[in-house]
Amino acid sequence: MKRSFAVFIILISLSTAAHSASGKQPAPAGAFDGAPAEYTRFSAAEITRGFLALAFGSDLRIGLAPRGIRRFDQPIRVAVVAGGSVDRSAAMTRVVEEYARKVPNLHMTIATDLQSADVEVQLIDEKNFKSALRAAFGAKVTRAFVARTDPQCMTSVKSNADGEIVRTVSFIIVDKGDNVFLDCAYHELLHAFGLSNHDQRNPWTTLNQRRMVGYLPAYDRALLTLLYDPRLMPGMTAAQARAVLPKVITDLGLAESPNKSQKVR
Ligand SMILES: [Zn+2]
Repeated sequence: MKRSFAVFIILISLSTAAHSASGKQPAPAGAFDGAPAEYTRFSAAEITRGFLALAFGSDLRIGLAPRGIRRFDQPIRVAVVAGGSVDRSAAMTRVVEEYARKVPNLHMTIATDLQSADVEVQLIDEKNFKSALRAAFGAKVTRAFVARTDPQCMTSVKSNADGEIVRTVSFIIVDKGDNVFLDCAYHELLHAFGLSNHDQRNPWTTLNQRRMVGYLPAYDRALLTLLYDPRLMPGMTAAQARAVLPKVITDLGLAESPNKSQKVR
């Protein structure tokens, strides 16, 4: 798609419901102590609901709101910028590499330098969080954003009028323990890739601000795999997405086959 000059910026902050999903497993190796269990099997309806809630909307928009899906439409280069009083750059790089491995359609690699990066990940101490936001976005935007969301970590997503993400910047807190770091790292990358919204009623996603997850659950992996399927395109409206989702979910084998005895109308 042709890029227009108009650019939109959205800012997203970080900070739990009835279960019908199945395949419950303990949190995977590498998760923090006390991380929630992982559900691994979902119905097509459960995946569709999460996708429509999380791929549209965001906490704070600046500029005219692009209405449709936002995602990268090119291979993604990620730069991890070391910083803060606890060295977590190797751990952050491992998270990035996990996403690249588990969602191949991201076509993601580590950037050779900051200038060429599409996704910039800044590792910082908590005390520097607000000043980092001010430096990146200005005092006015920072004030509005902090007042609205009281963020702990955050991601800014810049996209063009066609819905293609141009560049993202994430701030990840490194000095408040493994749980805060891991939760932020997995959560903010989902935003950076285009799952911009939150859903406080969804019990499976990392993008529920009442949950701390700290790993890439099967549910979010499914949503991201959908988002980067070639049939889901930047700029698509929710109605257009809804029309293609059933076939894409089936083709990718993301949902449990419907069980006739449990079929719900
Ligand atoms: Zn968030």
